[in-house]
Amino acid sequence: MAQRPIYLDCNATTPVDQRVLAAMLPYFTEHFGNAASSSHLYGWEAEAAVQQARETLATAIGAQPEALVFTSGATEANNLAIKGVAEAYISKGRHIITVATEHSAILDPCRYLQALGFDVTMLPVQADGLVALTQLEQALRSDTILVSVMAANNEIGVLQPLAAMGAMCRANQVLFHTDAAQAIGKISLDVEAMQIDLMSLTAHKAYGPKGIGALYVRRRHPRVQLAPQLHGGGHERGLRSGTLPTPQLVGFAKAIELAIAERPSETERITQLRERLWQQISTLDGVQLNGHVTQRLAGNLNISVAGVDGQALLLGLQPVVAVSSGSACSSTKTAPSHVLKALGLTDALAYASIRFGIGRFNTIEDIDRVADCMIATIRSLRRVAAV
Ligand SMILES: *Cc1c(COP(=O)(O)O)cnc(C)c1O
Repeated sequence: MAQRPIYLDCNATTPVDQRVLAAMLPYFTEHFGNAASSSHLYGWEAEAAVQQARETLATAIGAQPEALVFTSGATEANNLAIKGVAEAYISKGRHIITVATEHSAILDPCRYLQALGFDVTMLPVQADGLVALTQLEQALRSDTILVSVMAANNEIGVLQPLAAMGAMCRANQVLFHTDAAQAIGKISLDVEAMQIDLMSLTAHKAYGPKGIGALYVRRRHPRVQLAPQLHGGGHERGLRSGTLPTPQLVGFAKAIELAIAERPSETERITQLRERLWQQISTLDGVQLNGHVTQRLAGNLNISVAGVDGQALLLGLQPVVAVSSGSACSSTKTAPSHVLKALGLTDALAYASIRFGIGRFNTIEDIDRVADCMIATIRSLRRVAAV
């Protein structure tokens, strides 16, 4: 059987760590109870596991356990944050500020609200992918109810200056939300130090299971009001009805606990792998790095290759390495990446781009094989183009 391609798409999703799976398994079988069943042992066991997960995850972001609302992932958390705030604060105003390079799970809820009469300011980014703080300051208005800026970008890995933005929003009495789907477990996050009012999380980018996430909702100074988007049994203090998936929650907490415990060594190792890959690829002419050189996630390398067809490059790489040319959520669309366009790239360079997401289970051998394949593929595509 042919060897499976090397997986370098960790910004799309990650495999579940074996230790995470082991922690989850008993909650599918012997401890299968419903955490909302308060009349028997099965329910109590599930409730205890949920509470433990809530505490672990809250501690990971410097929050109180009661401030977490569990959701099906970051998409749902973003929708709850944006639509929930919009609905609850409509008497204060209808202006929302976000950024051109956000994930579609931010941009699409904002566009939805725009169609309902909300006013959305889309901040541009600089060529390195960072938002200029002066741009944010100038965009704030008396009717602004929410600023939403992602912690780490899913395509280019760029890390936004959350603490400075949080301080600016707080000073202007505007709620500050961050989509931390790519950041949780990878960089240090603290809702107090960064003055964050709402934060979206997900497990599956950090070696946890798919289908589970959370929204942090500040309860004091200020107390964030939120209109629920799912109505039903009144779970999660009425903010998100639905039976809690105990195994996923146990896995989510285990994944984040491991990621934080191992972060220093893992960040160093993965940074070295990324630098090794870039050193080899950048020996070619006409290859550029997209996004800030240092203000980025350790495992992300996004490059554009001049003089080659992006689709042909991806096809050439496919047998050897699993990568993408942008976000997984837009890989079926034919338009060039809105993130790379926001950096000012031409359509041609935006199309001819590859996102590498290096993760926990990649080795030096993986990196060297991928670099060799990249170099050979680009050389051969350019030879063909030259004839
Ligand atoms: C993956 C991702 C999402 C979506 O998260 P799901 O849990 O898959 O819904 C949202 N925002 C960013 C930045 C992401 O990387």
